[in-house]
Amino acid sequence: IREVRLVLGDQLNAKHTWWRTQHDNVLYVMMEMRQETDYVKHHIQKIVAFFAAMRNFASAIEQAGHRVHYMKLDDANNTQSLTQNLAAILAQHPNAKLSCMLPDEYRVDHQLRSWAGKEDIHIDWVDSEHFLTQRTVLAEWFPGRDNFLMESFYRRVRKQFDIMMEGDKPEGGQWNYDHDNRNKLPKSSSVIAPSCPANDVTDIHQMVTQQDINYFGDIDPQHFIWPTTRKQARDILSFFCQHQLAHFGTYQDAITDTEVHDHAWSLYHSRLSFAMNSKMLHPMEVVNAVLTHWRENEGTISINQVEGFIRQIIGWREFIRAIYWHHMPEYKNLNALGHQRDLPKFFWDGETHMRCLSQAIKQSLKYAYAHHIQRLMLTGNFALLAGCDPDQVDGWYLGIYIDALEWVELPNTRGMSQYADNGVLATKPYISSANYIKKMSHHCSQCRYNPDKKTGEGSCPFNSLYWQFLARHESHFSNNQRMAMMYSVWNKKTQEEQKALAKQAEYYLNNMDDL
Ligand code: FAD
Repeated sequence: IREVRLVLGDQLNAKHTWWRTQHDNVLYVMMEMRQETDYVKHHIQKIVAFFAAMRNFASAIEQAGHRVHYMKLDDANNTQSLTQNLAAILAQHPNAKLSCMLPDEYRVDHQLRSWAGKEDIHIDWVDSEHFLTQRTVLAEWFPGRDNFLMESFYRRVRKQFDIMMEGDKPEGGQWNYDHDNRNKLPKSSSVIAPSCPANDVTDIHQMVTQQDINYFGDIDPQHFIWPTTRKQARDILSFFCQHQLAHFGTYQDAITDTEVHDHAWSLYHSRLSFAMNSKMLHPMEVVNAVLTHWRENEGTISINQVEGFIRQIIGWREFIRAIYWHHMPEYKNLNALGHQRDLPKFFWDGETHMRCLSQAIKQSLKYAYAHHIQRLMLTGNFALLAGCDPDQVDGWYLGIYIDALEWVELPNTRGMSQYADNGVLATKPYISSANYIKKMSHHCSQCRYNPDKKTGEGSCPFNSLYWQFLARHESHFSNNQRMAMMYSVWNKKTQEEQKALAKQAEYYLNNMDDL
């Protein structure tokens, strides 16, 4: 063996140049490890999904004629550490050099580099050939700048990759159709059942259980719903184009209730994040499939659906990664608002009378999935208003979602959702009172709490917590123009009203486990 090539669990990119040529003296190494199952408490589906996808990927490249050394979690010689396993493999092949695809998580990147430095091992780094932009893109595109706007970044990617462009103008005349994408889902709309694989992952599930891993969440191991092969991932993409794309933008921000709509958990969302984050699907493949379907069906799918979706992939997803690499490792410790409260117990079981939170959390436990607005405006909004410790909030999001890898989870959670980065990602905190939830969802009419009541018995906690958050952080936000309106409403309230709101919020904060 002249070369050992490491393939991490989220580097399942079948189109990578590595696989273009077969070499008998190149050994591909893949490992299931406790260091990856245990760095945070994980949802069982996340662990199983990665291992199942890794095993399928390993056998696919083996069948294509490549040499693969695959280490299972319960293999006797598995040290459960990436670098110790690598050291043992290199010891067996003393003449081999080591090549690695650039990891996307700082944690793993740092581990490999510091080990190699200490052991005096040279690593040949290659790109993972997945993202459209490089880790250093922000410094390159916006030299000398400290704050970055997603919209400017997005326009630049669109121009550079010639996506929905007519010359140097955006197709349709506008860069962004967000104002068409904020609709509530009518009760009468029918939501199509999402297409899900029914994988049998019993063997992996049993192995994980036998290894005494500390996981949480539900799983049906005989009908596992997440894609574990590239073919399954492509099937979900094509289902999305055919059945969901036409409504994606319009109802992108909508939230509905399980009693009002079947399939409330997924609505018109693509559920492609796991397939993309594990690199089974390339973002350009997703973009091209959507554009092709749209062009073949022009007239039936409006531009706001397509632009809204493509912006998530080539705008938000790439931008979030760029922010992560621009600001790590400091970003992981930011806590601009000094929040320290423990996350309430109901985040772990969904047992709360707040119907919106209960449904968002219970579906997350059931499917390891919630759509963006549930993450941002329900669980995230509540954690922020309640002043929960961003470390705990991060741990929860990183553990529970099928798509949670730190490069994408951390800026979304600590930055966009918790404002712990002091506005690097969001120009103002994403907070709302019950009003927004009532406007965008179907939960409130069936909830024990009254969204129109601000204080007193049965008042929705989102109301008093919202005003108390603003009061608590007034000095922090007093110069933020985008918050001026909220503060002018707050300051118009009488002292009695302000006091009653503060008292109500304190009561709820002191009794969070009973909410
Ligand atoms: P769709 O709604 O169908 O969107 C299509 C694709 O766009 C997604 O698959 C995703 O790749 C991309 N996308 C959309 N929004 C974002 C965004 N804000 N950042 C990055 N990519 C985006 N996404 C993750 O992939 N992993 C995470 O760990 C994660 N944690 C989050 C935590 C919080 C607090 C919030 C508010 C958002 C988080 N997101 C995360 C972003 C987003 O919620 C998910 O990407 C999305 O819900 C995945 O479902 P989907 O594939 O059905 O997405």
